This record gives sequence, structure tokens and C-alpha cells, in this order.
Amino acid sequence: MERPRGRDASRSDDPLFPARHAPRCAGLDELDGLVARCRACPRLVAWREEVARVKRAAFQDQEYWGRPVPGFGPADAPLAVVGLAPAAHGANRTGRMFTGDTAGDFLFAALYEVGLASQPTSRHTGDGLTLRGVRLTAPVHCAPPANRPAADERDACRPWLSAELRLLAPSLRAVVALGGFGWQALLPAIRGSGRPLPRPWPAFGHGAHAVLPAAEGFPYPLHLLGSYHPSRRNTFTGRLTRPMLVGVLRRAAELADLPGGR
Ligand code: SF4
Repeated sequence: MERPRGRDASRSDDPLFPARHAPRCAGLDELDGLVARCRACPRLVAWREEVARVKRAAFQDQEYWGRPVPGFGPADAPLAVVGLAPAAHGANRTGRMFTGDTAGDFLFAALYEVGLASQPTSRHTGDGLTLRGVRLTAPVHCAPPANRPAADERDACRPWLSAELRLLAPSLRAVVALGGFGWQALLPAIRGSGRPLPRPWPAFGHGAHAVLPAAEGFPYPLHLLGSYHPSRRNTFTGRLTRPMLVGVLRRAAELADLPGGR
């Protein structure tokens, strides 16, 4: 007999699957593996898989990933960059954060300019790209319709990001949030990782900078920086230019004591 939904959090399609499993993860490999098989949000599961089945005309010959996209970058990164969610025909196609869409093109070119990426382009998982001291992740790991996750989907996914921040804590010194949504989703995820947050919570803006003090289990103060999201709308209208993003990333690298900041 089929179990009623919501009663067995060991099932990947249970709404409590992330909340049950993320806090127990002992390493990022384990976390990434669990994220990749999560099915906790029925609307997003249906959307990501429908997009992967229908495909965009330009990518008809490609096999879409069509699953949650885990974070990308070293497990001892001093810097994290937190976006919004995978793009339907970008990371939902390639299976790697920010890979395969215009926002990713913009971001990786900036990361390369700062010295945080081995190459300025990110096309697919076999392209040889490596990140230097930076991990890319998102508060929502599945591509949402119209790039807008619902509040309950954002909240359901939060334990994954909280666990990622906890596992990165031994090295993490700075986080860049891309866009107001990323910022707003990041703050409770930081709190969920066990690090106290100041009241009132710091406000988002391009170039915003807040410092969260070190705490038990968090050996370094955490510099939190904001940048406009490198979405097509922001970059095509000039709201976010390449020098603006490079400036925030360079400042974050400096605060994280990475070579790119000097
Ligand atoms: S958005 Fe997050 S919680 Fe929801 S199905 Fe995807 S990975 Fe799971």
C-alpha cells in the first residue's frame, strides 16, 4: 500500500526530506548527493523534468540534467557566491551552477577577471573549469517556473543551504549574495546553520556589506556582501556592469584573504 505523503521523511519526495537529512550530513560530497536526488517540491520537480523533456530547440540534441543542482566549488572555500535558483535551460540543462546561460557567462567572466576561476567561460561539466577558493550555490536548487520559487519552496530548500554553510564554516570568511532574493533567502539560511544574526537584519543593496561575528563552530567573522544579480535584465539594461560585479567580487576575495583580492 502507498504511504501517505508527508509521513516518511526518508523518502526523497517528502516535504521534510531536506530538513531531516541536511543537518546530518558530514561532508559536502554527501550533501551534494542528497541534494541531487531531492524531490520535496512537487511543482518544481514537475517543472524541471518537463523542461528537461521538451527542451529548447537549440539544445534538442543534449541530455538535460533535469534534477536539483548541487553547489559547485571546493569544500574548503573561504568565499561563497549565492544566487537565486538554477535556470531552466542553464544549470537545469548542464547540471552545474550558473553553467550554460547568460547570467553564468557574465559571472564566470568576472570570476576569471578576479582570479577565482580557471577560465572565463563555463559551458558544461566536462569543460575543465575549476574554481579557486570560491563555491557557487543557491537557496533553491531546482529551476522554478518564471525564475520565481514560491515561499514554501524556498523554505523547504533552506536546510540544504544551511548545511552547506555549516560544512564550509571552518574556511568560510565571506559570502556574496546575488540579488535581493538571494540576500533575503541567505540570511535565514545563515541563522539555520547555527550562526547568530544581528537585529535588525542587514538590508540588501549593491555593494552592501555587513560583518557577522565569529561564534562557536564559526571560527571567522563572516563578511556578507550584496551585488545585483547578473540576470539578463540587469546586465542588458546596464543596471549591473562588469566592473560593478568585479568590484564586489574583488572586495569579497580581499576580505576572504584570497589572492584575487590583492
Ligand atoms: S527546490 Fe530544493 S527542496 Fe525543493 S525539490 Fe528542489 S532541491 Fe528539493
